[in-house]
Amino acid sequence: MSSFYENFIAETDNNNSTSEKGWSKRGITVNDTSVYTDYRLSKKHLGFALKQNVEELDHLLSSFDNKWQPLNGKKFWFTNYDDLLRGLRTIVWDKNVKSYLIDDKNSYLWSEIGLTSFLKREKVKENEEWPNIQFYEVNKLIADTNQFLILGNKNTIKRLNNNVINIFVVGIEQVLKNIDVAELYIKIKKEQREAEGGHLFPIFYTPSSQNRDILFILDNMRSNVMQYSKQRKALACLHCGRCNEVCPVFQCSGDKAYDNIFSGPIASVLLPHLETIDDYKFVSYACTLCGNCEKVCPVSLSLRDMIMENRKFFLEKGHLSLAEKQRVKKLHKTLQNRKKLNKVAILKSLKMRKMTTKELRRSRKLPKFEKQSFNQQYIKKLKENN
Ligand code: SF4
Repeated sequence: MSSFYENFIAETDNNNSTSEKGWSKRGITVNDTSVYTDYRLSKKHLGFALKQNVEELDHLLSSFDNKWQPLNGKKFWFTNYDDLLRGLRTIVWDKNVKSYLIDDKNSYLWSEIGLTSFLKREKVKENEEWPNIQFYEVNKLIADTNQFLILGNKNTIKRLNNNVINIFVVGIEQVLKNIDVAELYIKIKKEQREAEGGHLFPIFYTPSSQNRDILFILDNMRSNVMQYSKQRKALACLHCGRCNEVCPVFQCSGDKAYDNIFSGPIASVLLPHLETIDDYKFVSYACTLCGNCEKVCPVSLSLRDMIMENRKFFLEKGHLSLAEKQRVKKLHKTLQNRKKLNKVAILKSLKMRKMTTKELRRSRKLPKFEKQSFNQQYIKKLKENN
């Protein structure tokens, strides 16, 4: 079996990136340190490593599981949020938990789980000074050392030393093969955080106490995504949000459009598989396939390919109703007809009204069409320039 570096060099060769330092040709000595010092190379290397991690997820998780020693605290696997909250309720009742602290309240994970509302229902109060229980998001599990990588804040280390119950929560897809990949991950995250004017406090934590440290590993339909060979690469997403900034659909719809924690281009790939296809397939059709997201993605995810794969899958597996199929056929015909595309803006606006529901029109402002089509404007510009 070829090594990680050989695979990476082969992939880099295939991409014709001959200008990249040290990796451009097979046989050239790999300059390992440049992987950490050259930002572009770090991104490329990390993207490759994360996608490979997704492909080996089964193996990495079982390797992590097998190495877990009883001394390293407790760990539980949960299939969904309800399951996780039931597990948490048992701990709250057993240990008579009355107060809590969340290490990073802004993390999207807690709102995804619905943690604060759960704690409110259980009458557990927030107490930053004297909590009975503390919650941490684990950014990555390191498979070969059995450590947790936590991208915390300046108080995290101090909190980890509090003699209380620590609950660590992580998604099953967040597992890295080894510390080398973790370092690249930290480098890219650090650059990003610093560009936003913040600081990163990476901590490699080794759980050590039988009763104090408890790891919750959450599937939540991620294993469902693993069935799809193209789309599963989206699980390598860093949740950096750069694609949202350049996505024309996200700019119009915002981050609450799908009533879900996922938004933007990554939602177009994952949401139908994390929720139900029939309720969320529309998210894959919302994409205009402009490709802006791919240009900025630090781990080079081929989001358009994945979205197209979703659409193909929905059609092949009978997830489109007769009316939807007819609409696609009609659209296909229109898009091939220059005359129809050049029709005046008012007709297009009327069509748009017909295609949208009253409810949608009430909550959204429909886009205005230009008076002339792109084709007409282009020809006009050419004539003007001549
Ligand atoms: S750019 Fe988008 S898809 Fe790429 S890592 Fe960031 S959030 Fe994920």
